[in-house]
Amino acid sequence: MAKVRYQYNESTLSYEKVKISKGKRALQILGTLVAWLSGGGVFYLLFTTFYDSPKESQLKNKNDEILLQYEILDKRLDQMSAVLADLENRDDNIYRTIFEAEPIPDNIRKAGIGGVNRYKNLEKFKGEADQVIETSKKLDQLSKQLYIQSKSFDEVIELAKQKEDMLASIPAVQPVSNADLKRMSSGFGRRVHPIYKTVRFHWGNDFTAPTGTEIYSTGKGKVVLVEHSGSGYGNHVIVDHGYGYQTLYAHMSETKVRQGQEVKRGEILGLVGSTGLSSAPHLHYEVLKNGAKLDPVNFYFNDLSPSEYALMIQLSQQENQSFD
Ligand SMILES: [Zn+2]
Repeated sequence: MAKVRYQYNESTLSYEKVKISKGKRALQILGTLVAWLSGGGVFYLLFTTFYDSPKESQLKNKNDEILLQYEILDKRLDQMSAVLADLENRDDNIYRTIFEAEPIPDNIRKAGIGGVNRYKNLEKFKGEADQVIETSKKLDQLSKQLYIQSKSFDEVIELAKQKEDMLASIPAVQPVSNADLKRMSSGFGRRVHPIYKTVRFHWGNDFTAPTGTEIYSTGKGKVVLVEHSGSGYGNHVIVDHGYGYQTLYAHMSETKVRQGQEVKRGEILGLVGSTGLSSAPHLHYEVLKNGAKLDPVNFYFNDLSPSEYALMIQLSQQENQSFD
């Protein structure tokens, strides 16, 4: 329905009815609406620039709360890292030391996580993302360190299982029966050579005993060398005990084992003699760890009491002449 309006006509000097079409009328209403809405929009923009809506305040509070929770989580992560550091320390300095395993190098324990940027997805959360990325990095680091630590404990458990075998293998007794310990005649170190009569390094322990006295393997192992010779060590035997240890028995009158034979601790390897470079019947005994010659006196612990051990050390330190 068209609305009736009046307009002053200057030529007729009277008001005349003006008819406004439906379309024009609709346009007018639309214009008014647009004006109202845009006015409201400006007002809304002004208002929201200076004041938060209740919903926004709520979200902001929630956000602050989440960030606080993150900080708490972060602190707890730090505490867990400290506990793990203590575990790693005990692992390297106690457990791995007991079983003679090398400590795990720091660069392996603390190695970062390589590859593509794992935190790319998080970077889109501007601002607060720093906290989230930091926490994620810490978590990744912690899980990696935990993994390495658990692997190390697996290894320690394996070493503990081997320990029994290791204890049976490592040289731990004297190579001849030596109840009164008097047979230990010359120790490890600088000694006068019995034949050259000059001071030389003596790389083993000499045990004097009558020819034919039994010589025992000082630990479980495999005979890796049986050599019959008229010089140097004379007739001698080398036993490999594993774990880096070897023992050498020299100047035998007779050998009683063959190469490749498995022997137990206490098994007879041969008999005392004076073959090779030797001044009188005796056993020259050497202990090697990874090829280096060690003082055998430290490997008689299985059959000596503390006081006997002290006497043995004293005997081995006498500045006498070796039998070589
Ligand atoms: Zn000797």
